[in-house]
Amino acid sequence: MANYVERVIELCKKNNPGELEFHQTVEEVLTSLAPVMDANPQYEECALLERLVEPERGVTFRVVWVDDEGKVQVNKGYRYQFNSAIGPYKGGLRFAPNVYPGIIKFLGFEQIFKNSLTGLPIGGGKGGSDFDPNGKSDAEVMRFCQAFMTELYRHIGPDTDVPAGDLGVGAREIGYLFGQYKRITDRFDGGVLTGKGIPYGGLLGRTEATGFGIVWYAEEMLKANGEEIKDKVVAISGFGNVSWGTAWQLQRLGAKLVTISGPDGYIYDPDGISTDEKVAYLLELRASGKNICAPYAEKFPNAKFYAGKKPWGVQQDEGIKVDMFIPCAMQNDVHMEHAQQIVDGGCKFYCEGANMPTTNDALQFLMEKCVAVGPAKAANAGGVACSCIEMGQNSGHTVFQHEDVYAQLHQIMKNIYNACAEAGEKYYGNKNALVQGANIAGFERVAQAMMAQGLV
Ligand code: GLU
Repeated sequence: MANYVERVIELCKKNNPGELEFHQTVEEVLTSLAPVMDANPQYEECALLERLVEPERGVTFRVVWVDDEGKVQVNKGYRYQFNSAIGPYKGGLRFAPNVYPGIIKFLGFEQIFKNSLTGLPIGGGKGGSDFDPNGKSDAEVMRFCQAFMTELYRHIGPDTDVPAGDLGVGAREIGYLFGQYKRITDRFDGGVLTGKGIPYGGLLGRTEATGFGIVWYAEEMLKANGEEIKDKVVAISGFGNVSWGTAWQLQRLGAKLVTISGPDGYIYDPDGISTDEKVAYLLELRASGKNICAPYAEKFPNAKFYAGKKPWGVQQDEGIKVDMFIPCAMQNDVHMEHAQQIVDGGCKFYCEGANMPTTNDALQFLMEKCVAVGPAKAANAGGVACSCIEMGQNSGHTVFQHEDVYAQLHQIMKNIYNACAEAGEKYYGNKNALVQGANIAGFERVAQAMMAQGLV
């Protein structure tokens, strides 16, 4: 049956040539599923994996807009609707210059399992564009978003497909997208997009939900191994929304965050990025639109800026021990040599925050050497879980309170951790086999739904 998994991985590579990130995710997920295929031959008989790796639908489209100089710009737009077995397609939009089908498909495929793990009724999808919002004026971003939605609106709906933000798409972009959707359709379909502003249907707590969820998941992982998160020294990458939410929750739980990073290098703060002022400053850094983190060291002079370096070597650079690393920036941020640095420095816990931040070989190595590794599709599922709560808020024409959202999110993260640990124990005899456990637990629910719904 392992043969079945290998065959589908090869098929997927052949059918999606050059889409390396997509190949990487499919390989990582399907490999974990081998023991489930052994136990359930009916899945092979009905070509379940072949169906899973093929999006139900994908659209690519032209996005035409005019920049501030009056020049006509043309970008590519995408929406891959991967799987709707357990609910409407749900997943973010990514605007970044490196976006191409391989990235949107890897994200869409991951999203199937992540969304399933939340226990909520949401299927998997993802979209985006090669548009780069960095350095663009507000008016340019608005015109781009309007042009993007002028095509996308016909493919989405509160019970069909519900996009949200991802890299390059925050509250501002969601606002412009929502405005254009409403203008074209003449409908206030609050639940057609999530991550909306609070005045028009957004969920209190959604902005920090991904980061809060990551830390709650990591806390469960530590607890299961007899450790507590309080006073732990933590290093993260990135300085966007996910990093900010992670920093804030680490502060709330009394851990000491010592790094953040950007494309320009990384910051080491020996005093910890652990005060309200410092955590709030991360938002300012991001809002500056310059995409650099160096100014942190000017604002807080005890901190040091390492130009051109990643934080994975901070243990060696500073002669300190880090208890847990949490990559929060982007895919393939941690390669084999970085994993080696993390382990050599004595770190025992690693929890992914961003989507697929670790290359497959580095992930394998960390799984062998660390006490526990938390996988992104489980640890960062709190964001999309709150998106689903936002959909419920909108369809119920109501407003949920902050504390209720936090309480629900906390419980969801505990449930997700338990589901991963139980599946790890059941199929791999190891409660710390969380990477495999997440893939299996996410898969099982989708598989059962697909089996029940016949050959579609
Ligand atoms: N882009 C986020 C993710 O990777 C959020 C998706 C959503 O809220 O729909 O899960």
